[in-house]
Amino acid sequence: MRTGIGYDLHRLVQGRPLILGGVTIPYERGLAGHSDADVLAHAIIDALLGASGLGNIGQLFPDTDPTFKNADSMVLLRKTVQDVRNNGYRIANIDAVVIAEHPRLNPYLAAIQTRLAEALDLDPAAVSVKPKTNEGLGPEGQGEAISAWATALLE
Ligand code: MG
Repeated sequence: MRTGIGYDLHRLVQGRPLILGGVTIPYERGLAGHSDADVLAHAIIDALLGASGLGNIGQLFPDTDPTFKNADSMVLLRKTVQDVRNNGYRIANIDAVVIAEHPRLNPYLAAIQTRLAEALDLDPAAVSVKPKTNEGLGPEGQGEAISAWATALLE
């Protein structure tokens, strides 16, 4: 068994959609980034890569590569899952935290869990996402950014 941890943060800006765990969430701002800036998907990808010893998201999907301009992070996640499996691992479970002051994410958790489970080819019960606010503190609390942490357990 191997565990991995992943972290990511993207800035909240005008004129971008807000996509978390492959789900577009209605909000007046979205996350800035080269890809679709799905901070939750990126944290999960890094947790999987860390657990399997395959490197990190910046190495596999560099933001200098035009191929990944506005890339759908669910495609990147599926590719990562394939790489993990090709290296002989089975994903046991994913646990994640998303830190956002606004919008409140509870209404979207079921959709996010379903979408991530599809991309990970896991039972939804093996995918956990927990939203947190930051008590108004720091970049997440001030509404300047959304961040995510994730762990992965591989067998
Ligand atoms: Mg990222």
